[in-house]
Amino acid sequence: MTNEVQEFDVVVIGGGPGGYAAALYGAAAGLNVAVIERDKVGGTCLHRGCVPAKEFLETAHVRRTLAHSSDFGITTGDVKVDFAVSQARKNEVVDRLFKGVSGLLKGRKVTVFEGTGRLDKDLKATVIDGTDAGKVIQGKNIILAAGSVPRTIPGFEIDGKIIVTSDEFLDLTTLPKTAAVIGGGAIGCEFASMLSDMGSEVTILEGLPTILPLCDVEVVKSVDRAFKKRGIKIQAGVKITGHTPNAKGTSVSVEGGENLDVEMVVVSVGRRPRTEGLLGDGTGVVVSEKGFVDVDSYMRTGAANVFAVGDVVATAQLAHVAFAEAIVAVKTILGESVLPVDYDRVPWAIYSNPEVAFCGLTEEAAKAKGYDVIVKKDPFAGNSRAQIIGETDGMVKIIAEKRPDGTAGQILGVHMSGPWVTEQLGAGYFAVNWEATVEEAAALIQPHPSLSETFGETLLALAGRGLHVG
Ligand SMILES: Cc1cc2nc3c(=O)[nH]c(=O)nc-3n(C[C@H](O)[C@H](O)[C@H](O)COP(=O)(O)OP(=O)(O)OC[C@H]3O[C@@H](n4cnc5c(N)ncnc54)[C@H](O)[C@@H]3O)c2cc1C
Repeated sequence: MTNEVQEFDVVVIGGGPGGYAAALYGAAAGLNVAVIERDKVGGTCLHRGCVPAKEFLETAHVRRTLAHSSDFGITTGDVKVDFAVSQARKNEVVDRLFKGVSGLLKGRKVTVFEGTGRLDKDLKATVIDGTDAGKVIQGKNIILAAGSVPRTIPGFEIDGKIIVTSDEFLDLTTLPKTAAVIGGGAIGCEFASMLSDMGSEVTILEGLPTILPLCDVEVVKSVDRAFKKRGIKIQAGVKITGHTPNAKGTSVSVEGGENLDVEMVVVSVGRRPRTEGLLGDGTGVVVSEKGFVDVDSYMRTGAANVFAVGDVVATAQLAHVAFAEAIVAVKTILGESVLPVDYDRVPWAIYSNPEVAFCGLTEEAAKAKGYDVIVKKDPFAGNSRAQIIGETDGMVKIIAEKRPDGTAGQILGVHMSGPWVTEQLGAGYFAVNWEATVEEAAALIQPHPSLSETFGETLLALAGRGLHVG
């Protein structure tokens, strides 16, 4: 234990995407940066979120490809799943990336303190447990990046066996034969899709009228159809009132739907900010009733020189949003000019089968904002590459502003479901954020044969004359 106070230009509490991005970006600008991390740098995203979840979805993709290999004239033996091997591969990928982030921080001379950090008054941070317990670190600036943890629901105590959240699910070495996923948001749909592709029987239980409530209505319908075609059951608009464990797992009580007997329940009902114990007395930082740190659009909290980024603030809980917010915070600290994050136009990507990706306004949101709109959509069924790879579910839908002369003007939103749309959204993202008009974007050529032609075709149709789309 030492009372020596070390001083830094920036002290970051939490080393997830928000925290490590702030540290790397600040250090690249010559700032002397410290990170306090209670677990492992990389955070939820690397250890319990984006990366492990996508690793398992890729495992599911491999199994799906093998299951359909005979369509291509390739005969394989019995396809068997050894999920312990999949788990080990996932851990290797995570570990390599963890070493990469740690190496980058070291290379930029960022000091990492191990333990739980608490912000005290006068910009001092105290490490309250772990290897560096007792250390007090003085910052000229502080960035709070403590992230989030899974929410749970009353009556569903997490035991890691029958009732799990994403944290436990991503550590499984065997998969359940039957599962209920409570929550049909992005993470719930990814888990349901992955389980189904791996051979489990899955039911999604969603309280709202549809799965994926943030997405465009027609995109949701296309995913709903594709999921049901693959045997994923969906009970939407239902209330989960409890469960009764039995010899094989548990029986879930569903009000407004059918009760379910399953081996495992995956609780996927969102994430709450991790602010407990984060703030000592007199910091001046304001935390909302729901536990989020209040910030302005430059990520400044109410307290001078204290910033907050990532899942700990009430913005889209996405790793790339955390990266962007970290850059805004650091540029503000540096006194550089910076545009705040435009939350209406961040890219969203959901890696289920079919994938979903979108950016900008949905048709309903555009109309609610008072836009007169023109909308075109094109299904992947007509796309040659989609036929070649045998993945034809999904569509591209583009929403554009309708000019007084009736032609399509600025592109307001791009919404996609289908094969590899998470990799295709880039073009739509640029179009929306560059405030491109339909004519400008439609003039750009898409390679043939490629999945991205569906985006190009939809633009041509919006511009007045499509090649294949009317
Ligand atoms: C299953 C799953 C899949 C996801 N998939 C995607 C995806 O595909 N794409 C996407 O963009 N996002 C995805 N997300 C969301 C993404 O993981 C989060 O938005 C992102 O990790 C937020 O970054 P953060 O730095 O704010 O917080 P976190 O990643 O939660 O990191 C916070 C860090 O702070 C540490 N910490 C907390 N409190 C303290 C303290 N007091 N002192 C010291 N350290 C502390 C924690 O240990 C943690 O390492 C997914 C999440 C889950 C759960």
